[in-house]
Amino acid sequence: MAEILKGKAVVDSLNLQLKRRAEELRAAGVAPTLAIIRVGDSGDDIAYERSAAKCCEAAGVDVRPRHFPASAGEDEIIEYVRSLNSDDSVHGVLILRPLPAHIDDRAVCRALAPEKDIDGITEYSMAGLYSGKKIGFAPCTAEASIDMLKHYGIEIEGKHAVVVGRSFVVGKPVAMMLLQRNATVTICHTKTAGLPAICRSADILVVAVGQAKLVTEEYLSPGQVIIDIGINFDENGNMCGDVDYQAALGRSGAVTPVPGGIGRVTTAVLAKHVVEACSRLAGL
Ligand code: NDP
Repeated sequence: MAEILKGKAVVDSLNLQLKRRAEELRAAGVAPTLAIIRVGDSGDDIAYERSAAKCCEAAGVDVRPRHFPASAGEDEIIEYVRSLNSDDSVHGVLILRPLPAHIDDRAVCRALAPEKDIDGITEYSMAGLYSGKKIGFAPCTAEASIDMLKHYGIEIEGKHAVVVGRSFVVGKPVAMMLLQRNATVTICHTKTAGLPAICRSADILVVAVGQAKLVTEEYLSPGQVIIDIGINFDENGNMCGDVDYQAALGRSGAVTPVPGGIGRVTTAVLAKHVVEACSRLAGL
């Protein structure tokens, strides 16, 4: 039976370090603070805001939420983002997306200062990720995958990592981060031929496709480490990943559960980025 890579252990260990660092920063006169912008009342946004706030609280990070009605104009949101850029008491800004259709998402992302871009949504953060320079931050979910591997002592260097999915939010950044850690990386997508065989050849298999239980037993081989990023709901309305969890438990070496895996670590990484942004901005 595969080892279950639970998110809670990673979060507990991260929070311990973060709390200590946040206390040091507070003692030096700065309180790490995250501003959250929510436009409208989408249930997903409200749930994510709640879990981000809870995680920040556990890590010693203050949260400053601001809610706009769904009808808010693009200029109003951009003006608020710019006011946060120049507010020294705010160190990170989380913009809950997707934004309502009448707002140009890219224009809002572009308005955000890269040093406060704790979820890697600006082109500067992307450039930082691809160049290996400390500009902005990596998207939290991508980094959560790396932190999960690190926490459980799973070697990345020299391993064949297969990433299924090539979005800018998850697939591409996680592939880049694995490459930076000297994995040999294969990126797959909907036009990939022979996906099951490529997945079977992986030492580390990262799946971020958004399709419930796409990865079945025929995609898996013994000893593999499987990072399941997907968040879906099965035919009975239960949350599940992109990987058939029972098949992975029976066949692989280690697997992240859904729920209780990467999603949980993602919000802890968000808090970690706020603490890091605060340290960088305060020069401490
Ligand atoms: P996107 O829809 O933006 O991207 C999906 C990617 O998967 C695309 O690159 C697509 O390929 C590829 N894909 C889709 N179907 C297949 C298939 N049958 N075979 C091979 N490749 C396929 O999704 P995201 O990257 O934003 O999210 C992926 C999943 O991760 C979702 O379930 C999402 O909910 C979850 N997620 C979880 C987070 C967390 O905190 N745990 C955070 C963010 C996302 P192509 O490019 O060819 O279309």
